[in-house]
Amino acid sequence: MKEQTKLVTTGRHPERYSGLVNTPVFRGSTILHQSMAEWEDKKKRRAADEHGASTYGRFGTPTHHALEEAVAELEGGFRSQVYPSGLAACATALTSLLSAGDHVLLTDSAYSPTRGFLTRVLGRFGVEVTIYDPTVGAGIEANIRPNTRVIYVESPGSETFEIQDIPAIAAAAHRHGAKVVMDNTWGTPLFFKPFQHGVDVSIQAATKYIVGHSDAMLGIVTCTEETWPLIKRTTQDLGQTAGPDDIYLALRGVRTMNVRLRQHWKAGVEVATWLENRPEVEKVLHPALPSHPGHELWKRDFLGACGLFAMVLKPASPAAVEAFIDSLQLFGIGVSWGGYESLIIPFNPSGDRVAAKWPYTGQALRLHIGLEDPADLIADLEHGFETLKHADPQLLAV
Ligand SMILES: *Cc1c(COP(=O)(O)O)cnc(C)c1O
Repeated sequence: MKEQTKLVTTGRHPERYSGLVNTPVFRGSTILHQSMAEWEDKKKRRAADEHGASTYGRFGTPTHHALEEAVAELEGGFRSQVYPSGLAACATALTSLLSAGDHVLLTDSAYSPTRGFLTRVLGRFGVEVTIYDPTVGAGIEANIRPNTRVIYVESPGSETFEIQDIPAIAAAAHRHGAKVVMDNTWGTPLFFKPFQHGVDVSIQAATKYIVGHSDAMLGIVTCTEETWPLIKRTTQDLGQTAGPDDIYLALRGVRTMNVRLRQHWKAGVEVATWLENRPEVEKVLHPALPSHPGHELWKRDFLGACGLFAMVLKPASPAAVEAFIDSLQLFGIGVSWGGYESLIIPFNPSGDRVAAKWPYTGQALRLHIGLEDPADLIADLEHGFETLKHADPQLLAV
């Protein structure tokens, strides 16, 4: 079946729900059983890890199981588990696989709250973290120690957009008995197939493109058959679950993901290409542009691009950059991404980076290209650049 068709059919069981097209929102804590025999049977099926055999709301309702079924199929993994946020998914995946005395290799391009969790929380429990250059590729092997259990990858980084050579990193990890955990939020389950490239655990901040409308928070971890029991056990030990209303919104988002993402991809490339030719712009960091240092790897491993990328402005005064951002009408100022609306946010990676030096001096800005007409977004940015130049007369010369 083609992916577009899978998005429509996956995780749906109308025959179980009076013929309703969508799995309803099931709210519940207690799950009643008709007899002791049914209770014992359910417990047995749950112990045997039968998907959907739940004895309590925390272990999921049919709403939870529908989304888990859908994402496992789309990511191409064995099983998925939902979490109340993307960061909860990252934190639980890492807690599942790491113990005191273990060593983890973390890409310098990782989502910074994930870095914070590893260093601040797991660090307190005796997990050692080494930050590596995201572009290291097969060279990662030199960083692997006898106690390295996890290599954490995020490709591309969601601020700095380095593409990682995941198959090379996975091959090195597996030679040394380490697992590869990937934050696959940018690639989405449609544009990067983690398990075909050697990933052992894949994470989606479903808050982004799966929910797709900036109206719910959710995370999902998808596993191989080998990593699933550990993730599941730890998830239950930590009491992790998510609300069925948010999950319903994510399931609704799944159905339109292909059409939305193809539009984000096309419009994102159009705006990025236009920006690349602007004299005020030092560099555009978009993996689908041939000028991107990771473009060849992106072409080899990815099936598309989402609407998130960055640009670095030529050096301009902070007041001029502020005037530029403030002048934009169609770009909201805010974090997160993956909704239908365009966003812009300044960032400064130079302070955090330890393994891969950030080479730019101008202001870096992350853009999310939403579902507006790209011509309107370009006109908005063009007007913004006029404001920028007038606020910084030196730039008028460029
Ligand atoms: C947003 C984000 C997360 C965290 O997701 P939340 O739902 O906000 O907790 C994790 N990784 C990446 C790459 C993200 O962009």
